[in-house]
Amino acid sequence: MSTTAETTSEPDRPDPRSLPSTLLGMDREELCRMAENLGFPAYRGTQIHHWLYRRTVREIGQMTNLPAALRETLRDRAGGTDTVGAHPPVSVNESSDGTRKYLFPTAHGGFVESALIPEGKRITLCLSTQVGCRRSCTFCQTARQGFQGNLQAGEILNQYHSIPERERITNIVYMGMGEPLDNWENGLRSLRIFTDPEGYALAARRITLSTVGIHPQLEHFLRADTKGPVSLAISLHTPFPEERRRLMPVENANPIEETVRLIRELRADRERRISFEYTMFSGFNDTQRHVDGIARLLNGLRFRINLIPFHQIEGVDLRPTSPEEIEAFAERLRRKDIPTFIRRSRGQDINAACGLLWTRHVQQG
Ligand code: SF4
Repeated sequence: MSTTAETTSEPDRPDPRSLPSTLLGMDREELCRMAENLGFPAYRGTQIHHWLYRRTVREIGQMTNLPAALRETLRDRAGGTDTVGAHPPVSVNESSDGTRKYLFPTAHGGFVESALIPEGKRITLCLSTQVGCRRSCTFCQTARQGFQGNLQAGEILNQYHSIPERERITNIVYMGMGEPLDNWENGLRSLRIFTDPEGYALAARRITLSTVGIHPQLEHFLRADTKGPVSLAISLHTPFPEERRRLMPVENANPIEETVRLIRELRADRERRISFEYTMFSGFNDTQRHVDGIARLLNGLRFRINLIPFHQIEGVDLRPTSPEEIEAFAERLRRKDIPTFIRRSRGQDINAACGLLWTRHVQQG
């Protein structure tokens, strides 16, 4: 890639006010179309794509092989600024266990958080897709904030683009604030951009989308044409519909049995990694009956179970299962040949549980 500024004259520019303003979040095809709409050859879009997602620039002025007239047009459509739409975090908190939590401002005035979780050679970035969430899971801090808006694809990508550790990240999980399938259009666009081999070029299997299981969108996700199979994590929390309804109102319209049927029907477990997330609540979902129920519900699928210690939330009438009981539960699942892992609690001292940093920032703010 040449970094020499070009000065070739190109056609007149259209009115930039009719165009979207943020480059970050546009995929290759959109950038090529945009270049043409602006009166420049389509390959200029490919060059912009390279600058954005391979060279990870933050300013239009850094795209030095674009004609000056195109850079000027891009600045016009960015409201007279030089930004590609990348914004640094407003705060960073580091836990004693090395977990870092970033808080990013959003276009409509809210905040979202992402967490960087180092574990040996693995460094996982946990992304948010919405400000708040509309799904009202009873055990979730984000649910209490209500729903305030969807993130644009660029705002999802920015959580990766704008942190200093970006190049060391090995895995990405869509497990922060929000339900990714409720913001599916932007979620899919961000997945396509993450996995584009000419851009960030992240391996699809190293990205995990976590969902409570919203059915039409889940089917779209399982059929989506990302570059390779993105991993899927389903929030299970209990195998019994009547109990799940008490934890997650989503069970009413999107029953877990239907979610499992869809995975079976599309043979999704044959082509991508599938895990079921299981937060442990003492006396509620940690009995032998639950072990048997999980084995029955998921019989024949290829999957793993991740057991998650519950962090007590004020005003929630659920209690954490003790570490010893979690270990015993895991053992009972393993005896049924179910691959089972226990997530370590991370970042407790910096409020790394979902939504907590946001809440603190707003309360202090
Ligand atoms: S657990 Fe996930 S889907 Fe449920 S309210 Fe929280 S963020 Fe939304």
